[in-house]
Amino acid sequence: MKASRVKYDYGDCHVCGERLQEKRIDQEFWIKGKLLVIEKVPAGVCPQCGERVVKAEIGGYLASLLGKSNGLRKVRHMTVPVLRFAKQIA
Ligand SMILES: [Zn+2]
Repeated sequence: MKASRVKYDYGDCHVCGERLQEKRIDQEFWIKGKLLVIEKVPAGVCPQCGERVVKAEIGGYLASLLGKSNGLRKVRHMTVPVLRFAKQIA
């Protein structure tokens, strides 16, 4: 029986050692003070501590997307709440 596409092995979390699981994540980037989100990015996510690892080829693709982000077709805009940390720290 021929195995269907083998999943990429993300290995173990470098923070806590838990096995990373492949998930689709929304990856946020700050570009010149503007928040940009790329949805459904395949990444290894740690179920224990939430650490995210993106493999090199995906990282390169994201970088190329961001490099031409001015010409990117934006699928939608979303509004995010912004809070200000107002408490004085002694
Ligand atoms: Zn972890």
